[in-house]
Amino acid sequence: MEISENKLIRKIKAFEDKSNKVLRGIGDDGAVVQLPTGPYVLVQDAMVEHVHFEFSFVDPYDLGKKAVYVNVSDILSMGALPLYFLVTIGLNPALTSRDVSRLYRGMRQAAREFGAILIGGDTTESKNDFFIDISMMGKVITKSYLGRDKAREGDFIAVTGSLGESAYGLHLFKEGRGGKGLKRFLKRYSSPKPPYPVWKELVKHDITRAMMDVSDGLLIDLGRMMTESRKGAIIHFERLPIPSILRKDNKEIFALSGGEDYQFLFTFPKNKLETVQRITMQGHPVSIIGEVIQGKGVKVLSKGKTLEIPVKGYEHFGNPQ
Ligand SMILES: [Mg+2]
Repeated sequence: MEISENKLIRKIKAFEDKSNKVLRGIGDDGAVVQLPTGPYVLVQDAMVEHVHFEFSFVDPYDLGKKAVYVNVSDILSMGALPLYFLVTIGLNPALTSRDVSRLYRGMRQAAREFGAILIGGDTTESKNDFFIDISMMGKVITKSYLGRDKAREGDFIAVTGSLGESAYGLHLFKEGRGGKGLKRFLKRYSSPKPPYPVWKELVKHDITRAMMDVSDGLLIDLGRMMTESRKGAIIHFERLPIPSILRKDNKEIFALSGGEDYQFLFTFPKNKLETVQRITMQGHPVSIIGEVIQGKGVKVLSKGKTLEIPVKGYEHFGNPQ
């Protein structure tokens, strides 16, 4: 970076949106906000260069958006709406002051789409890899928070949107492919906006019991949900929302174990089935992929037979796929 820390903070302050609920924002030892009563959700999600992304695939603007989106996705998953966030960035010498502006512009854009306001954070020097770490706060708007621990035996298991799009996007980036018809996959990887319209419908009609976002792959994440709920799951491969191009390209596995889909995975009681079908008919994509059973683990059936899946998804501190 070619500018001083004071200049950098002034630059970042320009990206702070005004709100009368923020009594003191960027520029002091701490931020002060006015909060109404009620339960709140706090989340934190970091992204590290060469671990979560490469600047050769994602430009700073999209990375800024993505960093906000992944935190918004966690907030929504808990049944809350985002309010405020703090950002820490670790800047390495490769990043220019223009890159930093683009990063914050991307964050502001994504945050505005969900009404979240940047109120502070930290900037530090990083000797090697760049990183960005966001903490975000949201207010619970559902009757009680949504979580992974609320699935019950007999619930249907469903997922919003399509699966495997982001992993396919990354695959395209690595192969240097793009062009018409592929853009949506690239975009799903570089700036995965949470599917807010369908989320709103699910919340409005009080559909979900357990809910989480698919960040590390359907199988891993559903397994985590079942562990937290002390239940098991059966899903049907034929019912998974897999884009046809993934089938053509023999990449259906991305729908089961590709990461970063940021779709919502949830369970719901059978008496909500008609409402879910109505929501889907109104153009909000929801696929019912299986059901919750007694026991543990996740079983994938294809034409009545159990499928053995070799790669489960992205596990941090383990062996990446
Ligand atoms: Mg999550």
